[in-house]
Amino acid sequence: MTQDWWNYAACADVDPNTALSIFFADENKSAENMQKIYAAKTICKSCPVQEDCLKDVMAHETSEGRYGIWGGYTAKERRALHRDQKRRHVA
Ligand code: SF4
Repeated sequence: MTQDWWNYAACADVDPNTALSIFFADENKSAENMQKIYAAKTICKSCPVQEDCLKDVMAHETSEGRYGIWGGYTAKERRALHRDQKRRHVA
């Protein structure tokens, strides 16, 4: 896949207000937010460019600017992925 992966993003077909609500839901454990996160992750699972999306966000986001669900992972989950990557580079 080239850098135009965004053209194939499954979330691009989602209504913008809905996308904002589910892909950027607060990661607190309320039932409502858990449902939103589940809905976003379900879209990511069917997305043909999930791997490209995750690679891109992992390469460009910073610890201060980590928001939303990208590549099927919440910001908190990506924080853990970044930690794992750092550990692997150190080891
Ligand atoms: S993986 Fe998820 S966030 Fe990334 S482009 Fe696909 S649907 Fe959108």
